[in-house]
Amino acid sequence: MNYRSRKTQAIINLSALKNNYNQIANLAPHSKTIAVIKANAYGHGAIEIAKSLHSLVPAFAVAFIDEAIILRKAGITLPILILEGPLDKEDFSLAKHHDFWLMLHNFEQVLWLSQEQTSYQEKLWLKIDTGMNRLGFSPKDAKQVIANLTNEQQRELVLCSHFSNADEINNPKTKTQITGLKTLADKYSCQFSLANSAGIINWPESHANYNRLGIALYGTNPTTNKSMAIKLAPVMTLQSNIIALRTLKLGESVGYGETWQAKQASVIATVAIGYADGYPRNAKAGTPVFINNQLAPLAGRVSMDMITIDVTNLANVSLGDVVELWGENLSVETVAKYMDTINYELLTRVSARVPKVYLES
Ligand SMILES: *Cc1c(COP(=O)(O)O)cnc(C)c1O
Repeated sequence: MNYRSRKTQAIINLSALKNNYNQIANLAPHSKTIAVIKANAYGHGAIEIAKSLHSLVPAFAVAFIDEAIILRKAGITLPILILEGPLDKEDFSLAKHHDFWLMLHNFEQVLWLSQEQTSYQEKLWLKIDTGMNRLGFSPKDAKQVIANLTNEQQRELVLCSHFSNADEINNPKTKTQITGLKTLADKYSCQFSLANSAGIINWPESHANYNRLGIALYGTNPTTNKSMAIKLAPVMTLQSNIIALRTLKLGESVGYGETWQAKQASVIATVAIGYADGYPRNAKAGTPVFINNQLAPLAGRVSMDMITIDVTNLANVSLGDVVELWGENLSVETVAKYMDTINYELLTRVSARVPKVYLES
């Protein structure tokens, strides 16, 4: 059944996706650029995104093995890096069966590996903590871990570290992290991987055998640096439409808690999207939406299924008009600022209630 009464949808532009990938990968021509598609490809639909990128990328990355199994079941055959590594001993046999690359980051996982009956043949990654202090072995523990691996595993090993501040182009922390991992990779003659999106774009000296591209792939700026050398196109456009219009008198209020009062006679448009769809309830009055080539501010609280917009100053607003919450005409970074959050969270929290429509332009 394709019939949909409510027109709210997330349009996913696969041409923009591929174009973004190619542009960013070209910034690091000597690296293999892995596409990070964890969290359902940052809310864009992991299976469809993986199929669309299959012929362009060397490998995919997800957070944990369950996410990777979904991709295998959908026929995705490329290697898949598991960023959090094995979270259960069973994960090793699954990884062997499915050709997943496991990240080792603690000694319990190393113990599980040594208890495997037949040697683990897939490529191993070793997470080194260079200052994020979330996952990984300290550089001084690397020797002991590597000593536990077979010669074959050592030859294939990729040392990996994650940046805590790569989005801040003047923060010296990133340089310290780069030096920390490079020193270790030299010492053990290993391949290595450092850069996330912000690293690839801001820190060319971080480019390594593998880079791990997430947020920028989806066309949204990973950095505080407003001017990027490349022009990325937003992949997701979240849109709904106007299902009611009314005129308020001066002093009348809108929505739960009467948090917004009309300071003049005002026209309010009610739009069919709410916090149950992933449009955050803490969006402040004034958060912009895009209607008929104009911006208009949110008025009053976000409800479960609806939001209300002050369209008093807009020309030509009619019932049924399309409202863009973020996407092609209004960046998700801009919108996120009005909600005390970031592009990553808004994209990943679009709920399953919102149908995704895939376009190749
Ligand atoms: C999510 C993640 C990435 C991708 O980061 P972006 O900022 O989205 O590019 C890379 N590496 C690791 C370890 C991650 O968890």
